[in-house]
Amino acid sequence: MAGCSHDCSSCSENCSSRDSKSLLKKPHELSDIKKIIAVVSGKGGVGKSMTCALMAAAAQNKGKVTAIMDADITGPSIPRMFGVTERAQGSENGILPVVSDGGIQVMSMNVLLENEAEPVVWRGSLISGTVMQFWTDVIWTGVDYMFIDMPPGTGDVPLTVFQSIPLDGIVIVTSPQDLVGMIVQKAVNMANMMNIPVLGIVENMSYIKCPDCGRKISVFGESGVDALALEYGIPNVAKIPIDSDLTKAADTGNIENFQNNYLSDFFDKISKKLK
Ligand code: ADP
Repeated sequence: MAGCSHDCSSCSENCSSRDSKSLLKKPHELSDIKKIIAVVSGKGGVGKSMTCALMAAAAQNKGKVTAIMDADITGPSIPRMFGVTERAQGSENGILPVVSDGGIQVMSMNVLLENEAEPVVWRGSLISGTVMQFWTDVIWTGVDYMFIDMPPGTGDVPLTVFQSIPLDGIVIVTSPQDLVGMIVQKAVNMANMMNIPVLGIVENMSYIKCPDCGRKISVFGESGVDALALEYGIPNVAKIPIDSDLTKAADTGNIENFQNNYLSDFFDKISKKLK
């Protein structure tokens, strides 16, 4: 239906996709968000935030209005990667995201804390509630693509996001040392349970490039990610090498200016699929 808010609980239309038990929540009434992609991983440290950041930078570089919701409340790294140090401001209507130098709208626990080194020692329900507020109380303006940096695993927060936010799809991030098969299976099963398409899989830290001859060296052995993608019907695969320039760009807040964006083509393929 045109103008569908994805909130079946307050709508009388009888669409084929109608789900009377829908738990989807409405975003802030002043928000306007077209496509939403969640970036998930089985465990921390595999490069989920890096993938989220590179995809957002790719979208922004292609002239799309881009936003990142950092749902990794206890380990937020998005503001640092984009050099965002300001605190979020509130207006009488809601909370405004902080905007990066390149124009990406960012909301993260770190832009709300007085001191970003403060740990967030909260129970799961409070953390999920905060993520929901990033959806219901933040004013996201004219967004073409929103990327959600999920916390790792399949706990409270991913479940809340999957149930409450109308995701267009997920991207799974793994690294070769991961128990990749099991993690992909879990993520695919969770997405299937929620009826959310798996748009692609990224193998991060996939190889290094020899600085002398440029040959790709698979430090952790041959990648099995293409076979897994085939097995689970995941349509897009990307591989990111271990690249110290990437670490440097992320650590110095320059990720959106990183020249060799490894996920530029990957984003193109996914965005075509979402049209
Ligand atoms: P996660 O979100 O999965 O916990 P991050 O994206 O925060 O992981 O990455 C963990 C660390 O590894 C960060 O310091 C990041 O800059 C670095 N990193 C991630 N991917 C790469 C890569 N391909 N090459 C070099 N460093 C990377």
